[in-house]
Amino acid sequence: MSQSCSIEKCTRTSRGLCDCCQQNLCLQHLNEHNALLISQLDPLTDEINVLGYCLETLNIQKTIDSGREKLEQWRQECYKKIDCFFEQKCQELDQLINEIVDQQRTVLNRTHLKITELINIQETTRQHIDLLTSSIRQLERNINNIEQKGLTITTRPLLIDDTLVSIERTTDHELDISTLSSVYKTIDRSDGSFRLLTANDRYLLIHQYPNLRLFDREMNIVKQTKWSYGEIQDMCWSSTLGRFIVLEENDIFLIDENTMSIDNVQRIGERDLISCTCSDAILFPPMSGESDDSTAMVAQTFVQMAYLLLEQQMKESAVICFISCSSWEK
Ligand SMILES: [Zn+2]
Ligand SMILES: [Zn+2]
Repeated sequence: MSQSCSIEKCTRTSRGLCDCCQQNLCLQHLNEHNALLISQLDPLTDEINVLGYCLETLNIQKTIDSGREKLEQWRQECYKKIDCFFEQKCQELDQLINEIVDQQRTVLNRTHLKITELINIQETTRQHIDLLTSSIRQLERNINNIEQKGLTITTRPLLIDDTLVSIERTTDHELDISTLSSVYKTIDRSDGSFRLLTANDRYLLIHQYPNLRLFDREMNIVKQTKWSYGEIQDMCWSSTLGRFIVLEENDIFLIDENTMSIDNVQRIGERDLISCTCSDAILFPPMSGESDDSTAMVAQTFVQMAYLLLEQQMKESAVICFISCSSWEK
């Protein structure tokens, strides 16, 4: 039996699936829908023509000018810094020359005084004469040097790093703060609270001195436990372990969201722990410090039986541990 047209009150036999409304329609209604679709092409043509005109008459000079204005501002600021640095070095130069001249003046005055003294008492020795002669020769050399040799000034050309100025397209998907919803609820953070927070799909975990607290979706405190350890470096949720992981500089703790028990995970390795994150399978706790040796970190009690597989150097100051999740699940 052939199907009838899907349009209400139309009794004609359907002749095909309409591409625009995904309904089975009769020939007449198919034609109507097709004509309606075609009629939508005209306004699109108008729009594209308008956009074409916009592109042709685009005021790129305005954009260029505002960009150049910014570059010019940067240039002027750089010049100011150079001028200021130059002035500072000129002052250093003046000061050093004056110091050198003052030193020679002091020696000259001292020598002059000594000679006057000896003349006044009308008595001297060969040794006095030799010493005075020697200091006068030295003074003479020093004074000549000031003029002839001047100061040693070493300069290096200013290195301009290309990254000082970067020019990129402006992307649309930057965070637009105006689209954020208004403040939902404010939580007081007492002095001594660590600023980190993390969440799973049920709770938000934050440290509110002196406790670790779980908040529900309505921001009510649902559970808490006293945190009597050191400064928290980072926290994350491990869905594999079903535990929150809290990093201290030297220790890893697992927090059970049901009992709020805190288990210290034994680890081997001396490096400081600085941050962590979890995928479904792996915990990545990057550690600071020297990392040329490949010391393995063993988490012997990660829920009784998790063990480390590999630690790998990442960049200069961070090391990443890959801890096998399959061994956690045993
Ligand atoms: Zn249709
Ligand atoms: Zn029809």
